[in-house]
Amino acid sequence: MRSTVKRVEIEARKQLRAIVRAYFLSLDEAARDPARRVAWCTSVGPCEILRAFGFEVYFPENHGALLGARKVSHQYIPRAVAAGYCAESCSYMTSDIGSAIAGYSPLTDAFGIAGPPRPDLLTYNTNQCREVQEWWSFFGKRYDVDVLGITPPPHLGTVAPHHIAFVRMELEKLVATIEKRFGLQLDYDRLGEVVALSSRASRLWCQVLDTCRSHPSPFTFFDGLVHMSPVILMRGTQTAVDYYELLLEEMNSRVAQGVAAVANERFRIYWEGMPVWPRMRDLSDHFFDLGAAVLASTYCNSWAFDEFSGGDPLTWMAKTSTEIFINRDEAYKQRFLRTMFHRFDIDGAVFHNARTCPNNTNSRFGMAQRLRDECNIPILVIDGDLSDVRFFSSAQTMTNIEAFIEQLEERIR
Ligand code: SF4
Repeated sequence: MRSTVKRVEIEARKQLRAIVRAYFLSLDEAARDPARRVAWCTSVGPCEILRAFGFEVYFPENHGALLGARKVSHQYIPRAVAAGYCAESCSYMTSDIGSAIAGYSPLTDAFGIAGPPRPDLLTYNTNQCREVQEWWSFFGKRYDVDVLGITPPPHLGTVAPHHIAFVRMELEKLVATIEKRFGLQLDYDRLGEVVALSSRASRLWCQVLDTCRSHPSPFTFFDGLVHMSPVILMRGTQTAVDYYELLLEEMNSRVAQGVAAVANERFRIYWEGMPVWPRMRDLSDHFFDLGAAVLASTYCNSWAFDEFSGGDPLTWMAKTSTEIFINRDEAYKQRFLRTMFHRFDIDGAVFHNARTCPNNTNSRFGMAQRLRDECNIPILVIDGDLSDVRFFSSAQTMTNIEAFIEQLEERIR
């Protein structure tokens, strides 16, 4: 039954809408202005270098998420399948490629622009998966532009100095290639400034997420999916820093006043894995109605990097992009999740088995069961997908969530 209690809206959201709109309009103008350049980049790719060179930076994964959130991915995936991409490969990739082939973009409805900005350059980092390399290759051919990549060693337990040295060397090569290709010279002082802004926004974002340690939590994973966009799209800019200062102030004030994101918070839940973008609102409402606050996640933490305290900006970039959770081995991930469960005083966890993203799914090799036994908390594994609704059964998932919450209730009786 739907709760009659209303959510308390996050005030900063008005500002968020304004800066996201300005970001896309600026990208659109840059793509049409011969004096400006646009580069596409993966979500934890070398965007600081691109910004320091003066490129406007666009992130195709965000477009994939938007197609999912607008519930239209499944309409465009078949176009990519017809072009030779497997229907069970990354649905961000297939929906994005399919929508480009079909000439559709949700950016048109949202911001009145034609679609993704035409790139002058595509850059990626395979720290998250190799799919991005194939995805970017498609657009490299389509726009006849260079595709340049960073390929760190994957599945790392310990990140050793030689791993960082290798990635740093790749970043240096990237810089040299861009300089030669576009006749530019990288200003390392400017790169240091961009990295400092990137790190500052990331630390503030981390502090926002940390306010969820409070009882009750002022913010949820579902809020995080909306409010994380500046730390991805505007990383390395003052706009992102200003935004997270504003959001953090609001969350701190919520904590001081005991304002709950989920009224009558009864249970504290961790979300592991990708979001289910097309069903985000339904899931958020369902947990809300059950008095369960999904308040921490691996996903929103993907952009919580270490502080940059001066020194070599390329080393900071090499380290932060190689150390990310998705690029680590199973043992590291299990330790990380255990720490998060304790840190946020978690009662139970939901693992999302995303059909088209094995790279960011951690329930396939027994980790959910190991953590359940180790941490003595109930864990629910749901089958679904980040974007393709054909792999997600709402009715079954909602019933499973209700049974999971009953399990949590049993434990406090
Ligand atoms: S991590 Fe998963 S969702 Fe993201 S681009 Fe790679 S395969 Fe797609």
